[in-house]
Amino acid sequence: MTTEAETTLLQALPGGLFIDGRWRAAGDGRQLAVHDPATGRVVKLVADAGPADARAAVDAAAAAFPGWAATPARERGEVLRRAFDLLRERREEVALLMTIEMGKPLAEARGEVDYGGEFLRWFGEEAVRVQGRYGANPEGSGRMIVTQHPVGPCYLVTPWNFPLAMTTRKVAPALAAGCTVVLKPAELAPLTTIYVARLLEEAGLPPGVVNVVTTSTPGPVSEPIIRDARVRKLSFTGSTGVGRTLLAQASERVLRTSMELGGNAPFVVFDDADLDTAVDAAMVAKFRNIGQACTAANRFIVDRKVVDDFVSRIAERVRGLSMGRGTEDGVSIGPLIDDRAVAKADHLVSDAVARGARLVTGGQRYDGEGTFYPATVLADVPVDSEILSSEIFGPVLAIVPFDSEDEAVKIANDTDYGLVSYVFTESLSRGHRMIDRLETGMMGLNVGAVSNAAAPFGGWKMSGLGREGGPEGIHEYLQTKYTLTPDPGA
Ligand code: NAD
Repeated sequence: MTTEAETTLLQALPGGLFIDGRWRAAGDGRQLAVHDPATGRVVKLVADAGPADARAAVDAAAAAFPGWAATPARERGEVLRRAFDLLRERREEVALLMTIEMGKPLAEARGEVDYGGEFLRWFGEEAVRVQGRYGANPEGSGRMIVTQHPVGPCYLVTPWNFPLAMTTRKVAPALAAGCTVVLKPAELAPLTTIYVARLLEEAGLPPGVVNVVTTSTPGPVSEPIIRDARVRKLSFTGSTGVGRTLLAQASERVLRTSMELGGNAPFVVFDDADLDTAVDAAMVAKFRNIGQACTAANRFIVDRKVVDDFVSRIAERVRGLSMGRGTEDGVSIGPLIDDRAVAKADHLVSDAVARGARLVTGGQRYDGEGTFYPATVLADVPVDSEILSSEIFGPVLAIVPFDSEDEAVKIANDTDYGLVSYVFTESLSRGHRMIDRLETGMMGLNVGAVSNAAAPFGGWKMSGLGREGGPEGIHEYLQTKYTLTPDPGA
């Protein structure tokens, strides 16, 4: 059911491309339909850009770059801070928009507004802390000056699963560093990015600094942008498969890239863990965003001595989760993003069961309106099951028992991905060993969620390149210059 508040919100939202500070239709007038995955209904039509529109966006970003790069860092930071304040004021509205376009429960959408907003605040503060270096060279024959410069116009590509936070995590450091951007949100959930662009406009951002291109044909639209010599940076968040394609395109001009790609997070529970803590954290690490997170725990690797206890406690909690449209009270399992996601979850569960996994709860396809899949628990999952090597991206919790610390580490690291791991143990020394032994860019030690604007988010192995957030985040948008000058003499 669409409420009056939803209708008003959707009607007030621009449906155009945002180029050079103006909202306008696609050159050929095409439009792209955005659906509510809980009902399958079209909620809004937005402009469907083609390559010529993308070129216009790059023209605008390139023209705006010298002025924005020369704008004092304090002023750039203040625009971000104003955008943060506006976002906080409009928390309910933005949260509702996210729930409508991609299905997450409203309470989680509010959490994303808080988390995503922090990038605007954090990088507004970081803008004024970009520093260089000055010193005598070791031979004493000259002075070394090291300075930082904005890398230039950037192309930013984001996924649908965290439409606000993935936008602000890229846009805020880029703007703080003095870069201009062309932003391309996912075709499945472009509305939140449009909302953010309007917010930045309201916060005083000059025309052309942020440009938004929505399209149903991301390949043909993106490739010319990536190959355009005026674009100096590509930052992508999405699947490893698409990331590899874009890296290949970027290699032609040796384009600076940041890649935040897929994950296959292990969640390791040792027999000395506090099981209450582990179960609480498992519910967050698995079911946040209906399992559609790159950081979602994908493989629960549990000591055989405590696995039965863990399974029964988890199953009880999972049976209590309620499924429905994210706007309804008490719902924690919203719809998956589309039919393909439902078919994938269903296939992975069937494959595991066929190989001998035990279906503890869930696992029944839902035939009503919307693209729902129920919260599901699988125990005794055989190690050759597809579910352990694919990103599930759905509310399915797969448990594998282990018998020794070495075996747990071996299973956890047996993947091409390396984004995040979760470890549960009350032993300090074991915790430290896991920091050394698990091959992931991030780790939750006795916690089930690690994301924070002040921390360097990013993966090892095929989970990506570079970091977003933290003091590291702004350096993705800066380039270093070293200058040598002779000693001034006496
Ligand atoms: P996706 O790779 O299908 O799409 C991501 C973005 O790439 C979208 O904007 C899409 O339009 C665009 N795209 C698709 N094909 C393209 C092409 N040929 N050329 C240019 N752009 C193209 O991913 P998704 O389904 O939107 O998101 C889910 C994936 O994102 C998962 O694998 C998840 O792990 C990953 N993800 C990673 C992080 C992280 O920080 N590491 C965060 C969120 C999501």
